[in-house]
Amino acid sequence: MELGEKTLDRNWEKLRDQLRDNERIWAGFRQIEVQMIGSNSFTDLVKVITRGIPEAFSGIDCVTLACVDPDYEMSRLIDASPEAKLIRKGFITMSREILEGLFTRPWRPRLGPVDENTHNLLFSKDPRASGSVALAPLIRRGELIGSLNQGSQDRGHFVPGIATDLLEHLAAVSALCIDNAINQERLKLDGLTDPLTDVANRRFFERRLKEEVERWARNVGPLVCMLVDVDFFKQVNDQYGHQVGDRVLRQIASILGQDLRGSDVLARYGGEEFVLLLPNTTIVHGTAIAERLRANVEHSAFVIPEGIDLDVTVSIGLACIVHGFESYGPDPAVWLVKKADGALYEAKQAGRNRIVLAS
Ligand code: GH3
Ligand code: MG
Ligand code: MG
Repeated sequence: MELGEKTLDRNWEKLRDQLRDNERIWAGFRQIEVQMIGSNSFTDLVKVITRGIPEAFSGIDCVTLACVDPDYEMSRLIDASPEAKLIRKGFITMSREILEGLFTRPWRPRLGPVDENTHNLLFSKDPRASGSVALAPLIRRGELIGSLNQGSQDRGHFVPGIATDLLEHLAAVSALCIDNAINQERLKLDGLTDPLTDVANRRFFERRLKEEVERWARNVGPLVCMLVDVDFFKQVNDQYGHQVGDRVLRQIASILGQDLRGSDVLARYGGEEFVLLLPNTTIVHGTAIAERLRANVEHSAFVIPEGIDLDVTVSIGLACIVHGFESYGPDPAVWLVKKADGALYEAKQAGRNRIVLAS
């Protein structure tokens, strides 16, 4: 009788411990889920997945995310992040063939000890994933888009046959959030990029101009603005058609975009006019850059389908705001663009294919 009661007690304790464990796991899971849904960029999401999961669950020592990224969309977003190097450690891109080779249809999670190939491919030989791993396929709209990879130093942590409902749920939420984040990023770009030339549009320029003038007011170096206008562009359209004109604009955008620093802004200001904003740039240096850009356009070959090499030139007006000079009026941003525009007008009047610095 007494023995029976003891066994009952022990079973009861075991059950209670298991329930507590489950509760803890679900609490961790809910926390991750909220963070994933709340992340406000793709890079943020990658951070939550690769760093948040090991923090939230004991026994999981290392997490990586592998994705198919055929157009380098995700890679570009990560490279643009100030934390790119850190994020890259947990993020891997791979071809669809390699990804599909990791799973067998129907796509289900894979658990067990790590083999050398997987350890190398998905965990860059990280010793924290040297015991056992769980690979969960990320599926979106019926397509395999990636793999969520969790590693443990403990060989017994991920063993084949254990329940994977939590893992599958985590993978489903991850896939949904990745898809959503990428769509959001596309939207952001669509609203601020010029579709013809792929450089920033005027809206983006206006926004950055405001930010850069505010930064300048907090006493960083001088700020240079350049307006670049294609000379006699109407003739190109009239003579060869607007499709040739479009090609010329794309090529000019690409010439102007060469050798820019990360903090510089190039945007299509309108029609056949571009604008450049160069923070922390002196008048002397800005003038040298403008002259180089003008010469680059003049000496580039603009070959049109008929095999003709068009003579294309640009005129550039530039202006600069510096500290210690106080007559910029109530809004230095307005002053800067107005002065650059005036200088551009002078460059046109003086015969085109030249640069003029605003007085
Ligand atoms: P200027 O040297 O004085 O600047 O002469 P311009 O002919 O370049 O100047 P104008 O302002 O007379 O003409 C600009 C032309 O640019 C007219 C317009 O049709 C053309 N244009 C504007 N946007 C586009 C575009 O997106 N594609 C094409 N192909 N042409 C465009
Ligand atoms: Mg114009
Ligand atoms: Mg023009």
